[in-house]
This record gives sequence, structure tokens and C-alpha cells, in this order.
Amino acid sequence: MVVKRTEKESKSKMKMSIFNTLTRKVEEIKPIKKGEIGMYSCGPTVYGRAHVGNMRAYIFADTLRRVLEYYGYKVKHVMNITDVGHLTSDADSGEDKMQKSAREERLSAWDISKKYTELFFEDEKELNIIRPSVVCNATDHIKEQIELIKSLEKKGYTYKTSDGIYFDTAKFKKYGDLAKLNIEGLQAGKRIDVGEKKNKTDFALWKFSGEDEKRDMEWESPWGKGFPGWHIECSAMSMRYLGDNFDIHTGGIDHIPIHHTNEIAQSESSTGKKFVNYWVHSEFLVLGEQEKMSKSLGNVINLDTIKEKGFTPMDYRYLCLGVQYRKRLIFGEDVLKSAANSMQRLRNKIIEIKEENPKKIELSKLSSESKKYLEEFKESVFNDLNTPKALAVMWNMLSDNEISNSEKYNLILDFERVLGLGLDKIKREEIKIDNKLQKLLDKREEFRKQKKWQEADKIRDEILAEGYVILDTGEGPKLEKSGK
Ligand code: AMP
Ligand code: ZN
Repeated sequence: MVVKRTEKESKSKMKMSIFNTLTRKVEEIKPIKKGEIGMYSCGPTVYGRAHVGNMRAYIFADTLRRVLEYYGYKVKHVMNITDVGHLTSDADSGEDKMQKSAREERLSAWDISKKYTELFFEDEKELNIIRPSVVCNATDHIKEQIELIKSLEKKGYTYKTSDGIYFDTAKFKKYGDLAKLNIEGLQAGKRIDVGEKKNKTDFALWKFSGEDEKRDMEWESPWGKGFPGWHIECSAMSMRYLGDNFDIHTGGIDHIPIHHTNEIAQSESSTGKKFVNYWVHSEFLVLGEQEKMSKSLGNVINLDTIKEKGFTPMDYRYLCLGVQYRKRLIFGEDVLKSAANSMQRLRNKIIEIKEENPKKIELSKLSSESKKYLEEFKESVFNDLNTPKALAVMWNMLSDNEISNSEKYNLILDFERVLGLGLDKIKREEIKIDNKLQKLLDKREEFRKQKKWQEADKIRDEILAEGYVILDTGEGPKLEKSGK
């Protein structure tokens, strides 16, 4: 006899797991407080427009939050805005990125912060990223940062140099565990250039304003006028909003060896407790084999660049979901185009389903075939956020003739909670086709009839350049506006 699992049983059996950088293992998530998750994400440094690589990190954090909520957790998601202290070099030298940008754009650092924070949230909105429960600026939490430095000072972890107050990493025994840093190897480089620092890995907690330096952002402190180091803000604000020990901390992989390593050192030295239970890091978006996309390399592409090429922010989100967060995303117009095609097919399919007026069906009342897909979808996303597999499950479900359109539509609405592709808002838009467009469409149809696919594709690109995507429906080709 086949024993059918009830909904409740199968939910209690399914576990949610994620790769923890701390242990280098995929681990089951066990929250500190039953049913709740506290999650902190390192936010943007608002000295310039975020590029699509940066946005991959935030789409990932958003997806993780959505999956946690889909699992049933109540999530408190905190994200910071770095608006002071992030220097052009991670080794505590160079200029403050905010001040540098202010000088270049002839604005104050405060205006730079406002300008790029607004742009960042516009991008987030376009990418359908749910706004974190708390968004906190470093400059609004100077007091908390000073308090934290004072507690480290009291415990003997700090020392003073001519340019600031530093953390003595030799005093924190577990320093570098997260990144599995070879501390001895690193310290061997000490002779090269440590300046007044005691150890190569020591980092600034508070930097003094230079004597001749004109800074827009500076504050009084027990050690002198200046500004906080970059790492201290994330320790101070995450603990302020989530407590000394919380569940999940996210960020890009570049943060493992320095920023997050230093956050752990500061926080654990101050509280004597474990700081974070699960460290979750997203891989980089690269251009070609190894080339990193970064503002300093000057090879950045932002959301506007993508839109100018006729793609939509949702095409980009689809592309991100198609690559598991722990894999490098090799970015290029070809992969974006393939994501756009998939989005177009998806829109097409959903419009087709919606035209049959699908009924609302409770998930528990779905047919066993549909439930199988629902279970597979959950298994994929609850297992280390396997979004490419979840997309494959969605496509298999959509092309399964055993399932009614109503069931398909209800499953799509459920999957949308995780995917965030705006699938719940898709609807047919009537487009007025002018002469020029009609001629292009006719020409393309002609080529398609003659099976001249390359020529037909070329015309599709021309139409895309005009701002429209073609939906090939059962009733012939239809146009939809691109860039939404
Ligand atoms: P930043 O504004 O420089 O502090 O970076 C914001 C976030 O973007 C951090 O989590 C970085 O790890 C991440 N990041 C930076 N460059 C890339 C990239 N090329 N691909 C993916 N993530 C990136
Ligand atoms: Zn941070």
C-alpha cells in the first residue's frame, strides 16, 4: 500500500539548508528563535551607481529572504548603507570613497550619499527586490560604533597610531577562521609594509581626520576628530538590530577574507559570544573567464545599460536565478539574450493561461501531479537555494499536459513568491502597430515561412531596437513593449 504523506507531515520532513562558509558545509538552518530568522546583508557603498555585479548580490539576498519566508519563517532583514569610511584600499589606506566621489562630482559627501542611495533603491525596485525590514546608514549610527570601539579598548584589543585607532588581530585567537587564512603566511609579509600597524591584518576602527584634510563627514570621539572604519559599522548596526548573536549574514565572496573576518573579530572580542551562525556568500559576476566587473576597473554595466539594449530588469533577474548563487555568473549579451527569450516564452505562456480565466485553487486541493511539482520546487529552493533547478521544475510543470491551466496558474503564483519575476502581474498589452513595425513583422513572418531563421532573428532584433518584443502566440505574432 502506498502511504500518502499529509501536507503537514511533508512540511515537517522537508528541511531548509544552506552552505555555511564558516564550516564549508551545506547545513540545515536551525534558527535561534523558533520560527524566526534574523538576517543581515552588507549593503552598498553609495559613492557611485551600483553595477549589475553588485545587484547580483542583492538579488541573491532577496531570494534567500523570500525562500526563508516561503519556508514559513518570519524574517527580520537588516541592510546597511555604507556612506562613510570605506577607503579606496582595503588595507586602510587611500581616500574615503565618498569623499573622492564628492570631489570628482563637485558635490558634498552627503549629497553623493543621497543621490546614489536613491538610485540604488530605484534599481532594487525595478528588480522586484523586497525592501529590507531595516535599512540603516553608517552615519546615523556613529554613537553605536564609538561605544563598540570603547568596549574593545576597555578589553585591551586596540592601540593607537598616528592616523587612528587599530584592532590588534593577534589578540583574537580565532582571527581568520572564516576565510581559513594562513595568518603566519600573511604575517611573513609584515616586513613589506605595515607602517605603524603591529600586524599586517590589523585594521582601523577609527581614523583621524588629517590635519589639512577638509572632510564633509567627521565626528568628535574620545580619540579625536575623525570617522569610523568600514568594518565597525556592520558589527555595530547588525548587533544593534539583531542582537549579539544572530542567524544569517550575507555578502559577496570578496568580503570573506577582510570585511567579514574583521566583523567577526570585533564583535566576538567585544561580546565574548559567537557572532553569526550562518555566513552565506554569493559568487561574483564576471565578464569572460576571469575578468571581474568593478567600478575601479571601469568596465561596469548598470541596469540602465541593460535597458538601453532593449532588455528588462526582469530579464536580468531571470539570468541571476538561472545560475546558482555559489557559481560564477559569466555575464554577456548572449546569456542575457537567452534569459530574455525565456522570460518572453514565460510571459507568453502565462498570458495564454490567463486568457482561459484560471480559477483559484488552494494548494492543498491540487491534483497529485501538481503536488509533485510543488514538492520538487520546494526541495530545490530549500536545498541550498537551487534556483536553476526550481526554474526547470517550473518549465516542466508548464509543459505537462496532465495539469489543467488553472492548476498551472496557481502553481505559478506560488512559485512567484520565491522567484520574484513579476509573474503575478503579467498581462497582455495591446500595442498600436504602425506601418514601419507592421512591415517588419510581415517580413519576419515571410522569412519564418521560408525557414530563414537567421534573417527572421535579425528582424526580431530590429523590432527589439524599436522597443518591442515579439510574442509568437497561437494567433500569430503579437508585440509587447520591452523595458518593463
Ligand atoms: P560595494 O558597494 O562595493 O560595497 O559592494 C556591494 C556588494 O556587491 C558586496 O556584497 C560585494 O561583495 C558585491 N559585489 C561587488 N562586485 C561584484 C561582482 N562583480 N559580482 C557580484 N557581486 C559583487
Ligand atoms: Zn558589511
